[in-house]
Amino acid sequence: MKQKRAHNFSAGPAALPLEVLQKAQEELVDYQGAGASIIEMSHRGPEYTEVDRQARERLSRLLGLGDDYEILFYQGGASLQFLMVPYNFNTGKTADYINTGTWSKKAIKEAKVFGDVHIAFSSEDSNFNRVPGDEELNFSGKGEYVHFTSNNTIFGTQFRNEPASDGLPLACDASSDFLSRPVDINRYGVLYAGAQKNAGPAGLTIVILRKDMLEKARSENVSSMLSYPTQVGTLFNTPPVFGVYIFNYVLEWIESKGGLEAMDRLNQQKAGILYDEIDRDDFYAGTADKASRSLMNVTFRLKDEALEKTFIEESKKAGMSGLKGHRSVGGMRASIYNACPQASVEALVEFMQEFRRTHG
Ligand code: PLP
Repeated sequence: MKQKRAHNFSAGPAALPLEVLQKAQEELVDYQGAGASIIEMSHRGPEYTEVDRQARERLSRLLGLGDDYEILFYQGGASLQFLMVPYNFNTGKTADYINTGTWSKKAIKEAKVFGDVHIAFSSEDSNFNRVPGDEELNFSGKGEYVHFTSNNTIFGTQFRNEPASDGLPLACDASSDFLSRPVDINRYGVLYAGAQKNAGPAGLTIVILRKDMLEKARSENVSSMLSYPTQVGTLFNTPPVFGVYIFNYVLEWIESKGGLEAMDRLNQQKAGILYDEIDRDDFYAGTADKASRSLMNVTFRLKDEALEKTFIEESKKAGMSGLKGHRSVGGMRASIYNACPQASVEALVEFMQEFRRTHG
């Protein structure tokens, strides 16, 4: 049967590199001559141990992680990290949070269960259409860490660089721009990401921890599954083996394309093509402030909002999926993560031009 691939603009779970899927498809029944699939073997056996080793090595190389960092392959999604970060690190003082959208708010809600939370900035009053400049951040002066959401998947905004943090370690939910560009890793005490946008299948969460944070982590009466110190350096329970297996191939794919600098270049190029089309005239309008625009999730509306339903319907007929915006913003959202080929962005732009011609 001929396999069909749509131009996939899903916000997540999102498109993966075709090469990765094809390799997994080839190996699914018989993993490299082992006579079983990688998801049918012990996670402590030699095959999976090697997959785990490769994934850690590649991730460390791509991010420039030194010996002062630990990597965890976790389950529970980024949402569990909303809880684990404060459970481990907001131990009696306060934590500073930057509120730039729905996911930040969820992180704040969990943090409040464990201690005081100080909101260093919020763009809620403008429906989260922007991220702050450093000069707008108002720190508590007594925080344990500064938490931010590097890319706001729903509102289509993204920090260009790491925000100021008053000398505190950054704690980052990088779920929707993980591995899309280089980061200044040494500023991060903890960085976590659900895999299902740029890194692999849902079910795997990557957590990167600076070792000095572990020394400060909650240590009395802890739940083993929620405690970072219990989890590092050991397979405490069964890891998400399929997720790590695919993640390893995604990392290999990123390396083959030239690493994070190359990803950044490609992502800037793709987003540039799309924003240029949105800005061409007032038929389309971007929803995020220009200076805060995301390279990953391009959110836009039609001047005539009544046409948006038709836009979505016709885009589906033209072989495009996942363009409906989140209900809290409305309109359209094109998610163009690492694995979205430039050809798909060009096809979308062509469709937008045709739509303007026929409905403008
Ligand atoms: N954080 C961000 C930025 C997200 O985009 C999402 C999901 O889309 C989440 C957190 C929630 O992730 P999970 O479903 O893995 O808990």
